Amino acid sequence: MIGGGVIGLFCAYHLKRAGADVVLIDKSDFGSGCSFANGGWVCPSIATPLPAPGLATASLRGLLRSDSPFYIKPSAVPHLGRWLWEFRGHCNADSYTRGVAALAELSRGTPKQYAQLGSDGVDFEYDRRGTLLAFSDARSLEREHRDLMTLGAFGLGPIDALDETGLRKDQPGLAGDLIGGLIIRDEVHVRPDTLCRGLATRIEADGVEVLPGLEVSGFEVERGTIVAATGPGIEITADAFVVATGAEASFLTTQLGMPLPVQAGKGYSITIEGPAATVSRPTHVSTAKMGFTPFAGAHRLLGTMELSGINRRLDPRRIEALERAGRRALPGCLDGATRSDWVGMRPVTPDGLPVIGALATCVNGFVATGHQMLGVTLAPSTGSVIAQLVLEGRVEKEVSAFSPTRF
Ligand SMILES: Cc1cc2nc3c(=O)[nH]c(=O)nc-3n(C[C@H](O)[C@H](O)[C@H](O)COP(=O)(O)OP(=O)(O)OC[C@H]3O[C@@H](n4cnc5c(N)ncnc54)[C@H](O)[C@@H]3O)c2cc1C
Repeated sequence: MIGGGVIGLFCAYHLKRAGADVVLIDKSDFGSGCSFANGGWVCPSIATPLPAPGLATASLRGLLRSDSPFYIKPSAVPHLGRWLWEFRGHCNADSYTRGVAALAELSRGTPKQYAQLGSDGVDFEYDRRGTLLAFSDARSLEREHRDLMTLGAFGLGPIDALDETGLRKDQPGLAGDLIGGLIIRDEVHVRPDTLCRGLATRIEADGVEVLPGLEVSGFEVERGTIVAATGPGIEITADAFVVATGAEASFLTTQLGMPLPVQAGKGYSITIEGPAATVSRPTHVSTAKMGFTPFAGAHRLLGTMELSGINRRLDPRRIEALERAGRRALPGCLDGATRSDWVGMRPVTPDGLPVIGALATCVNGFVATGHQMLGVTLAPSTGSVIAQLVLEGRVEKEVSAFSPTRF
């Protein structure tokens, strides 16, 4: 296993439970990439592909503004050209509807899988308070409600619809022109850094060899079979190799003959420790295009999607935009004792779906990446799919939509 974010950790966890001998390598520390300070929502309700109908008609000028919630850095446009063109091609109802169904199937039952992790001795912060989506116009609320009801077939719900009074009663701290909301009752959330730490501790105790601080930079391949993963000072042999290196996955899959169109969709968070105005459950505020997550003794503001290439540069203008949106949506939300600002690279593909499966160019290479805004939500099922593929060569769920060969 190469890459110890939430995806690699769950793959290692499922492979070990299925009886495999596993080595997990990360160039840094486990869970220190995009899996570190994200929202922690386990939310099949918002498991939708990023390219959505209408997005392609959003004005290019708007997308190039540094305070826009969806921002494309002008200097990155030439480099992103082909990716953006393909992304644009998926901003239609057909592609979106197919993507929603595929993601709903993959995320089915995920909140329960998280509940079971605790019983399996994984120590992490977890809460079951549901998710709240707050709206400022009735049409969007109704459309979202209708869409969510169709996901009932995938086990989503129950859903409570709130009018403005109900919403203000549920979250008295929220400000602005909100008119109502939807609560998806059964959804859960986790504190992602504690989840990664808990999983790493658990798998190590179960006998997974965990090797932080080692970077894989290439492979030794003989007649279509990977023999070893190599890097400065390392040569690790194995029967199968899984690349789960998030937004950087294509660096390694390219060396195995399969470049993948995975880009970094950078997102920002501000974590406030200590008392500050907060919400009582994970909340997405549609007007502000941002979310809040409450944790024990802390809370987090989240938002923005920035396409500026694969790098972890934190743009202070994006943090300022998140601050402004946060203050407007939830006055007092920045008033805690300490604060940390963070940027993470969501692995994003042009069709908005993950890439999970066998590499076509070698017999024992696999990949699990591209989970965009949904890595925490989709990690348990991704881990289970990878374990089945690696050990049995077949999968119970329908996963053809995620095949690495689709590009
Ligand atoms: C602001 C924000 C909020 C979010 N909120 C949510 C949410 O509420 N719910 C949700 O489901 N998702 C959320 N996400 C998305 C989620 O964080 C990602 O989808 C997920 O973390 C991706 O996990 P990963 O394991 O693929 O990548 P990463 O966590 O980035 O892990 C990849 C790992 O690979 C390692 N690596 C890279 N290259 C190499 C190499 N060559 N050799 C060895 N190791 C290597 C890295 O060090 C890293 O640890 C959010 C993201 C952001 C940015």
